[in-house]
Amino acid sequence: MKPPRILPNSPFARIARRVLGSSSVAMVLGNTIHLSGATKEEFLCDPYWVAHEMCHIQQFREHGYLAFLWKYLVESARVGYYNNKYEAEARLAGQRDAQLYAHNGVLPDPATMHRGAGEPT
Ligand SMILES: [Zn+2]
Repeated sequence: MKPPRILPNSPFARIARRVLGSSSVAMVLGNTIHLSGATKEEFLCDPYWVAHEMCHIQQFREHGYLAFLWKYLVESARVGYYNNKYEAEARLAGQRDAQLYAHNGVLPDPATMHRGAGEPT
């Protein structure tokens, strides 16, 4: 498996950011994490956020690119962003797997982190 790529200043993430009304957004398309409103460094400093987006990378791998995109959009249209089962799974992963992405094995206080602040994406 190729390692995921990170793309800052992504036009796709900028659109999602406007739609969600969020100050910063990370959005996964296939094997690429698109960022808007956050630098690559800010993103990588938040292990909860990285774990969340890595779950979406995994979802794309499991279902296949177009199949997952379709299922995700249908699910979002049906139950909304927050209750989307793929988002619920990624929220769980964000808590469960954060340790994997912690620097020097130390998890920061989630309240100081993007993900801990409960912002969408
Ligand atoms: Zn998500």
